[in-house]
Parts: sequence; C-alpha cells; structure tokens
Amino acid sequence: MQSKDPCIARGNYGRYKAFSLCIVVWSVVRIPLLPPETALWNFVEAAVRDVFRAYNFHEIRTPIFESTELFARGVGEETDIVSKEMYTWQDQGRAQSDQGQSLTLRPENTAGVVRAYIEHKLWDRGLSKLYYIGPQFRRERPQKGRYRQFYQIGAEVIGPASAGSESPARDAEILELLATLLDRLGIKDWTLELNSIGCANDRAAYNEALRKALEPVAPKMCVDCQRRAVTNPLRVFDCKVPEDQPIIEKLPRISQFLDEPCRKHFEEVKEILRAVGVEFQLNDRLVRGLDYYSRTAFEFTHGALGAQNAILGGGRYDGLSEMLGGPAAPGIGFAMGEDRLVLALSESAEAVLRKPDVYIAPLGGNMNKEAARLARELRRHDVVVELGDERFRLKKSFEAADKAAAKYILIVGENEVKADVFALKNLATGEQKAVPRAELAQMIQH
Ligand code: AMP
Repeated sequence: MQSKDPCIARGNYGRYKAFSLCIVVWSVVRIPLLPPETALWNFVEAAVRDVFRAYNFHEIRTPIFESTELFARGVGEETDIVSKEMYTWQDQGRAQSDQGQSLTLRPENTAGVVRAYIEHKLWDRGLSKLYYIGPQFRRERPQKGRYRQFYQIGAEVIGPASAGSESPARDAEILELLATLLDRLGIKDWTLELNSIGCANDRAAYNEALRKALEPVAPKMCVDCQRRAVTNPLRVFDCKVPEDQPIIEKLPRISQFLDEPCRKHFEEVKEILRAVGVEFQLNDRLVRGLDYYSRTAFEFTHGALGAQNAILGGGRYDGLSEMLGGPAAPGIGFAMGEDRLVLALSESAEAVLRKPDVYIAPLGGNMNKEAARLARELRRHDVVVELGDERFRLKKSFEAADKAAAKYILIVGENEVKADVFALKNLATGEQKAVPRAELAQMIQH
C-alpha cells in the first residue's frame, strides 16, 4: 500500500521527490540555525542571562505543548493567535484519559507560566520573577523576521498583590531592564511605545463606546474588522489593512476612559521612567494582540527591521490568573522575538565566535594518543583545541589549522614527545617557539 506520508516514498524518483518535499515542508517551519550564526544566538542568550541575574530573575522552563484550552482561555478565542495561528491536534494518547485530548504547540509563553504559577502554588514564594528562552509556534506566512517556529525571550513578574506585584514600580523596572538589555547588546535606535489600556471596568465602558462608534463605519472595513466590531471591538486596533486606517484613526481612545487608579498607576510608571532616564513615546493605539492585558501595554520597535519592526511587546495582565482558575495574582511581562533581536544586532557572528586557540597536529605513527593527552590537558585550562589526525601530512595539518582559523598550530611528533617540548607556531605572525609542556597553556592563552 502506498504511504500518504510524503517522507516515505516508493522507487528512486519517488524517494527523491519525497526528500525534496520534506525539505520544503521543514524549511517553511524554520530554517535551521547553523554555526557560525548560533554563536550570535549564544552571545545574545549569555547577555540576557547576565542581565536577568542582575535583576534577580530566575529561569522557568514550561512545556512546549499544552492543552489547547489553556491558550483558548488564556490568550483569548478572538485573538488572531487562537482563531487562526495555532498548531493544534487531537492526541492519540496511550492512557484512556489522554484519548482525544486537544493539544497545542505553545504560541506564546505567558499562559504556560501562569498555569505553572497556579499548579505549583508559587504565591507561597511571594513575588515570582521568572524568565524563559525558547521556541514558540504560530501558523503565519513566513517572511523576514516572521517564522512559524520562532524564539522568544520573555519574563513575567507575578504574585499576590501583598508582595507588590501590582505596583507601578514593577512595570517601570521591567521597562528599564529592557532598555538596559538592548543597550548592553549594542542595539541602537530602539523606540519604546507606551500606553495604558486600563482595567476591566474601563475597558467595558470603552468597548461600549467603540462598538457604538464602529456601528456606522464597520461595513466599510475589512471582513476581520467587521467581525471584531461585534465580537471584540478593541481588536480593531490590530488591523493592518491600509484602507481601514483613516477610520481607525477617528475612533475614541482608551486614554479618555481610564479611571482614577489606572490613571495614577500609569502616571507613576512614566515618572519612574523619566527619573531613570528611559525615553518613551505615548501611543494610545497600542492595545496589544492578546486579550489578557490590562493597564500598562508596551512595545519596543527597531527601525532597521522593516515591516516586522516590533522587537518585543508586553504589558500587565492583572486578571489572567483568575481567568485560568487561579487566585488573584497581578503580573506584568514581556516577550521579545529573539530572531528579530539577532537581526537587529550590529555584531557579526564572526566577531563573537570563539575560534580554536590551537590546532594540535599529531605527526607520524602512534602520535594520536599523545596528541589526545595534550589536548585533554590544555582543554582543562580552558584552551579551545581542535585536534588533527596522525594520518595527515604536515601540509594538510597546516591547511586544516588555517581552515579552522586557529591561532596556533602545535606539532606533536616523536621527538617532541621524548623531549616533552613542543613546536608551537603562531599562524598569524609565523613565529615559532619550542615550548615545554608545562608552559603550553599559558603561552597559548597569552
Ligand atoms: P507577541 O507574543 O505577539 O506579543 O510577540 C512578541 C514578540 O515576538 C514580537 O515583538 C516579535 O518580536 C516576536 N514574534 C512574534 N511572532 C513572531 C514570528 N512569527 N516570528 C518571529 N518573531 C515573532
């Protein structure tokens, strides 16, 4: 019987065709990250971990797939993510209880963090300051800066109000952390856009006003907006259709609907940002694409990224824990697109790649084991070693050392082993020295 799986083929042509199909299918999901590019990703992640450490954040790793219901409830049925972008399937689980369960590859990480907060009663620990780095999945049309599997670096500050989770100081701290992180990565020309989308009461009044304002104009808008005008008018602000923009421009803004506590909260966030010298622009069209946000909403954009210019977005989500069946747990967080962050770096992969310090070239029979011993000793001293093969002639070893961009080549031949003194040649200057074994690590690292 012929398999329906394109990766399983019959016959030679079939095999070739199936192979190319597999490549096409996979590269649509995500082009693999290869060296030297991965060095840039590691450079970013190391800087990120350093910055999070300084702000006393700790890492959380949530499952890559979760029950569909978590995202439907946590992100919102009406959002683009849930309504059209999730990778969802019915599980064929082995246990009876798993059968037919609907599962989804996580399209974002906040819902998963809040679920973990609820299930593991993290409120017992006071304020949780958590960060994550990992893949997310959305069915989108791939283009530069937008992929179906993409990576996010994110953080969430969540806890009982008594632990200070509601304080505007937390919002400002997160924003200042982000400014520090982007500066530290050498990313210039970022813009922080800031808004407050108020609390549930403000939004109920605002939604009503929006619905009214949309009633006469919705028929002239795109089909998505016509639907949103009825189901969730706030989402109209996510619309990117150029013809709809003049209509959206004239709609009432949330800033006119903030109640006193929300207005004061927002004022204090802005005051702290001014005091610490983080610049921002107010944007009262910024409502963020997910349903769970409240009060502070923000995005950082970067000019050089073109159409996909949002590097990160986030905001406060004071009611999310309750929406997911947990206790009141105000929180604020962000998610940063790591793919876009890497695109925005001025640093090149070559510049951050750690090249071999030394290429060890065993020369002649029985020298592989001597070279391996030496490599082991040097690596223990944090020397980066590329190891050759006694079957290579000297010329080939030199070529391999050049190709690996090693700084030195170290010759390990019978005479060297007997004397315990080795020929070390600097490949850039051509200078060669005879170096005793005990001094090699220091000499190479110098
Ligand atoms: P969101 O979770 O939609 O607020 O997205 C937060 C950040 O993740 C965005 O600002 C982007 O930098 C990044 N991002 C979202 N979707 C994608 C995608 N499909 N491909 C690459 N990056 C993305």
